Amino acid sequence: MQYHLNGFKPGNYQVPDAARKPYPDPPIEDLPSKVDVLIVGTGPAGLTMARQMAEFHDIKTCIVDKSSGPLLFGRADGISCRTIEIMEAFNSSDMVVKETYQLMQNTFWEPNPDNPQHIRRKEKIADARIGLSEFTHGIVNQARLHELLLDGMENSVSALRPHYSREFVSLDIDENLTQDLDAYPITATFRRVDAEGQGRSETVKARFIIGSDGGHSQVRRSLGIELQGDSANKSWGVMDILLNTDFPDIRVKSFIQSKDHGAVMTIPREGGYLIRFYVEMDMIEEGKRATELEVTEKDLIAKAQKIFHPYTLDVKEVAWWSIYSVGQRIADRFDNRPADSPESVMPRAFLAGDACHTHSPKGGWGLNTSLPDTFNLGWKLASVLLRKSDPKLLATYGTERRKVAQHLINADKELSKLVATRPAASDTSEKARVDTAEIEAFMKRQSGFVSGTSIEYFPSYICTGHENQRLAPGFKIGQRFHSALATRMADGKHQHLGHLVKADGRWRIFLFAGAEDPTDVASEAYKFVDFLANDAASPLRRYTPKGRDPDSVIDTYAVFQQKDLSMHDLHDFLWPAKGKYGLRDYEKVFHPQDGNDAYDLRGIDRHAGCVVVVRPDQHVATILPVSDHDALSAFFDCFMLPHL
Ligand SMILES: Cc1cc2nc3c(=O)[nH]c(=O)nc-3n(C[C@H](O)[C@H](O)[C@H](O)COP(=O)(O)OP(=O)(O)OC[C@H]3O[C@@H](n4cnc5c(N)ncnc54)[C@H](O)[C@@H]3O)c2cc1C
Repeated sequence: MQYHLNGFKPGNYQVPDAARKPYPDPPIEDLPSKVDVLIVGTGPAGLTMARQMAEFHDIKTCIVDKSSGPLLFGRADGISCRTIEIMEAFNSSDMVVKETYQLMQNTFWEPNPDNPQHIRRKEKIADARIGLSEFTHGIVNQARLHELLLDGMENSVSALRPHYSREFVSLDIDENLTQDLDAYPITATFRRVDAEGQGRSETVKARFIIGSDGGHSQVRRSLGIELQGDSANKSWGVMDILLNTDFPDIRVKSFIQSKDHGAVMTIPREGGYLIRFYVEMDMIEEGKRATELEVTEKDLIAKAQKIFHPYTLDVKEVAWWSIYSVGQRIADRFDNRPADSPESVMPRAFLAGDACHTHSPKGGWGLNTSLPDTFNLGWKLASVLLRKSDPKLLATYGTERRKVAQHLINADKELSKLVATRPAASDTSEKARVDTAEIEAFMKRQSGFVSGTSIEYFPSYICTGHENQRLAPGFKIGQRFHSALATRMADGKHQHLGHLVKADGRWRIFLFAGAEDPTDVASEAYKFVDFLANDAASPLRRYTPKGRDPDSVIDTYAVFQQKDLSMHDLHDFLWPAKGKYGLRDYEKVFHPQDGNDAYDLRGIDRHAGCVVVVRPDQHVATILPVSDHDALSAFFDCFMLPHL
């Protein structure tokens, strides 16, 4: 898809350039007085939380932002493979794939040794992330991603819309009520910032609050939580531009290092014409913010022009620009519980996204770490509010995501060191010359982390069974379920198994059967399915409310190695009767694809098979032998609550 030929236009890219218009600010509606979940901030973290909550009509959610309407321009633009996988869980990946620039190559430029005032291409390589997911890294305006989340919220059962022009001011937590799930211990105060309501104060009572209000989070301050780490001393100019140039790699992501003027990173953008430039600027004085620097977009262009020499840049339009500088900092806690609290203490306030971790924009990690923060938290909070899980589950948000944030900070420090080329005279710790080979090696080494696909949660009662990892080494316990194609038995459709794991709060059990005939009642596969369907210890029997569909809490799929099975010869739990008419669901059984066999791709033991349990956020929770029914029961019994 091509757009922005005659100038950058924000909005819905499905609408042609000539007709696309930014949306007017939404009307102001009163804030609700009492909600289950209160979200502050409509960045990627807040919107993902809201998008997840919107799936549950019996959870009352309110999301608030101080801006007057949705974001239109700028900020992050790199959408990692894992972020697109998450968008697939919200049924929105198609748009992301269609509309993004798909990153396939990187180039590295350096001073020409024969003429150091000129740059020359050192090399062009395939992007290190290709093949880590069925999706490729995409580049698109952050605002467009917001819009897809907003559309999903509005079209959900909750028809959820944000409240804008409200600035969060303060927070009161009634400590006497925090351990009573039914109580509303949170009182949040907001100030209207629109012209009409200017200064008017509003309060909202909530059972839980999520502070996703960015790097200068007022929710974090209200909770008395500190960001710890280094403050920024290096600024980068960022601009989205339309230009003509004789630089040959303008449609490839490029790292350009000049001899005397610093570095530029270019990122081609969606629509074929737009380009993002990150331009290395000067060191900032201690205590100063990047936005206080007296720099204009003209300065950024002039600087870039020097770095690109001898190539020329004829900039026709600057769609958005900013000076951006963030230190590597992390909150000591991601929730309101005192440090070292046992998991039995229920948190009532959470921090997510930039509110609890900040870092430089170079790795494109801001959005791609913030959004999975709340993808991790959302299903847990819903499950506790709906009385499906023990509230102790909420403590795992902080332990799981803080580890990811710490890895991010470490990686960002390393990358910043590699990219920083002109250290302050006083700084003797940095090397003065960037080595592009080192950046390339870093990118390769960190590709799984950069793409989000190798992020792995700590062993815990929801990431367990590592002794069985050998049964399927390609489904790493704690990492996201690495999708593979399979063929649906009933109709021959090619289906990505990972795309069956939707963001609907349900758990998934994938049975990858061994070699035996699964229609034989003596086979382990048949016995496993019969256990799920009929045994009193089956988690499906224990945790599915009476009268609900058998897959409404835990959704089961089976992959059989035999390709010529008839659905009607299989255990009827695998083609269950559902809904008000008792219609049969024929979409739960698969066989491997020729030449693309999931057993080979993920190293699944063909003889014994295995059971893979996948969390509602698509991470692999455990792997079990097909015969170990007790272990499956014990897994769910550890945190789920029997239905009333
Ligand atoms: C100016 C700017 C430029 C950036 N440029 C880049 C870039 O070039 N590349 C890159 O990778 N990343 C960039 N980022 C970072 C990236 O956008 C963030 O990492 C990502 O958006 C974090 O998501 P988040 O949801 O945690 O917070 P944010 O996206 O920051 O969202 C926070 C939201 O909270 C709202 N808010 C803040 N305080 C209050 C309050 N008191 N009351 C109510 N609402 C409040 C804000 O209006 C905002 O909508 C940039 C960020 C900013 C702010």
